[in-house]
Amino acid sequence: MKLSYWEIKSWFTNVDYTIVGSGIVGLNCALQLKQRFPKANILVLEKGILPQGASTKNAGFACFGSLSEILDDLKIHSECEVFSLVKKRVDGLQLLRQTLGDANINYKQFGGFELFTKADSELFEDCLSKKESINNLLKPIFKDEVYSLKSNIFNFKNIQNQYIFNQFEGQIDTGKMMKSLLQKALSRDIKILNNVTVKAFLEDNNSVKIKTKLFEFSTSKLLIATNGFASQLLNEHVKPARAQVLITKPIKNLQIKGTFHLDKGYYYFRNIDDRILLGGGRNLDFKAEETTELKQTELIQNKLEALLKITILPETPFDIDYRWSGIMGVGKQKKAIVKQLSNHVFCGVRLGGMGVAIGSLVGKELSDLV
Ligand SMILES: Cc1cc2nc3c(=O)[nH]c(=O)nc-3n(C[C@H](O)[C@H](O)[C@H](O)COP(=O)(O)OP(=O)(O)OC[C@H]3O[C@@H](n4cnc5c(N)ncnc54)[C@H](O)[C@@H]3O)c2cc1C
Repeated sequence: MKLSYWEIKSWFTNVDYTIVGSGIVGLNCALQLKQRFPKANILVLEKGILPQGASTKNAGFACFGSLSEILDDLKIHSECEVFSLVKKRVDGLQLLRQTLGDANINYKQFGGFELFTKADSELFEDCLSKKESINNLLKPIFKDEVYSLKSNIFNFKNIQNQYIFNQFEGQIDTGKMMKSLLQKALSRDIKILNNVTVKAFLEDNNSVKIKTKLFEFSTSKLLIATNGFASQLLNEHVKPARAQVLITKPIKNLQIKGTFHLDKGYYYFRNIDDRILLGGGRNLDFKAEETTELKQTELIQNKLEALLKITILPETPFDIDYRWSGIMGVGKQKKAIVKQLSNHVFCGVRLGGMGVAIGSLVGKELSDLV
């Protein structure tokens, strides 16, 4: 496609920073750069009509790890590493709330609940026996006990009679969060172009030439925030991981309130607008879910529906309203990759299942690299 003189002059000349990806990381990175360099010409390129990876698809848990997840992390990370992972998530959530304001993301701290299946008595016992030591490990961050025991107040079926409750866990309205973030970026004169797929880039002494599906241009610095799609442009160890979700139609007198982690975190659900949003099931077929295709499978959707019927809403009739999927970026290590790749190219990718929590901070760290 040939660009006009006007298009070249107004959008693609003297571009200081080009960011690929308009998810939480890309937009936060753009906002931070604008704050530091108010006169900078910042361009965000996004392949979807909306952000199209995970940031507009997620479950909106403002969480930093369930007890079993933290114990699991301790098997491959040191105590110090796990402490700093949790701290990053907490700081990231604080930054998100500061940047956008609680009303604009509909932040509610209803608490988080970890549910254990009947088959998981051993894991449940293990969590109970280590609860105190994890509370102590996290005391410097929260100054209070994070995990406590609660009885099955919501009457879920086929689970252990008690949950592990996390008083500090919250939830947000993901759509509101991304709308506010986009509005904020646009109001700061950050240019966002949708339907533009970056295919390749080539660096010379002073700039980076960017090749998109339709046109080419040059930028002084390139920042890549493409998370689950990172390996399409970069040589980094990031695997795509699809996560599938469904949401019910509104349910009269729905009493369930909070964010819930079930079966070692393989499933998660929450209340939102008198509905239940439920996701997970990647463990049913990890290989098939290692994809960037935004599709749903019968295997996982049927399992999610069965969980609603058998465990979550056993006595309440419900209908499914929507089903969708999103793409995460994962790796062996839980830590995000935030680094300079060459003189003018940087990346902030591999956010795993915690990008609501760490996305703002990773965006800031990425911007701090330039
Ligand atoms: C179903 C689901 C549920 C989740 N639930 C939670 C949760 O409850 N709590 C939590 O903390 N985290 C959750 N996550 C994870 C969280 O959503 C992500 O970690 C976070 O959104 C990642 O943000 P990002 O900006 O790095 O990536 P993304 O939001 O994926 O943004 C990357 C963007 O780059 C664009 N892009 C990719 N390649 C190109 C290219 N070549 N050219 C142009 N644009 C490109 C993509 O279209 C995309 O919009 C969930 C994820 C999913 C999928």
